[in-house]
Amino acid sequence: MTKRYAMVIDLRKCVGCSACSVACRSQWGVADYGSRTWVAATGIEGTFPDLYQTHYVGQCNHCDDATCLNECPTEATQKDENGIVWVDPEVCIGCGLCIDGCPYGARYLNRETKKVDKCDFCRPRLDQGLQPICEQTCISGAKTFGDLGDPKSDVYDLVYRQGAQRLPSPGIDLGPNVYYLGEQRHIDLIAAKFPAIYPESSKMTKVWKFLKPALLGATALTFTGQAIAMGFQLSKNEDTHTD
Ligand code: SF4
Ligand code: SF4
Repeated sequence: MTKRYAMVIDLRKCVGCSACSVACRSQWGVADYGSRTWVAATGIEGTFPDLYQTHYVGQCNHCDDATCLNECPTEATQKDENGIVWVDPEVCIGCGLCIDGCPYGARYLNRETKKVDKCDFCRPRLDQGLQPICEQTCISGAKTFGDLGDPKSDVYDLVYRQGAQRLPSPGIDLGPNVYYLGEQRHIDLIAAKFPAIYPESSKMTKVWKFLKPALLGATALTFTGQAIAMGFQLSKNEDTHTD
């Protein structure tokens, strides 16, 4: 049966050490100015003595309805049956349009490789039977990765029995597959401090969306015209040789 991958982050266990992010950088050569997974403190909230804070451990959510997919003009962004959304570097042209298509800020452009990069749930490691490096590295067991379609899995237990939940994001419901477990006020604090939001669409995105149908149509017409001309030329040559 096809797996349905998800990650659960237990905010009660995370100590904000960033070991997960550092391990990810090291494993995948993540650029200093970007990240595949990140850890950000919310800052202290509340009134003394009832003060509280938590950490936002973020990454690509491998959304059910991944809007980034629609933005990619070359189909470099792919979605596997198991839910993993990934970028094929061989096909990515580094246009960055998908970055604007993600409300979670989960993608960045690697300026050296000129490719867009993001978390892929350590897809190459999964192929080798390994777990994602962030989950394996977490010093406190705050990250749990697995198959949400398997009632015997830990992620199934955490989501369906222990109440891990998606971050609330009013107006944006892409079906994220990263879940958070912890006090409701901690989850609400993350949602308030780090809201999902679509970046202002770049001019390039708007221009591309406007021009794409016309350009594709023009390209198809050009190819068709060239094919007709070649066919005509060939038949003419054949006629000449027959004469
Ligand atoms: Fe795409 Fe962003 Fe969702 Fe990841 S979090 S699947 S990059 S829309
Ligand atoms: Fe939190 Fe674990 Fe990452 Fe440390 S390694 S920041 S404890 S999730």
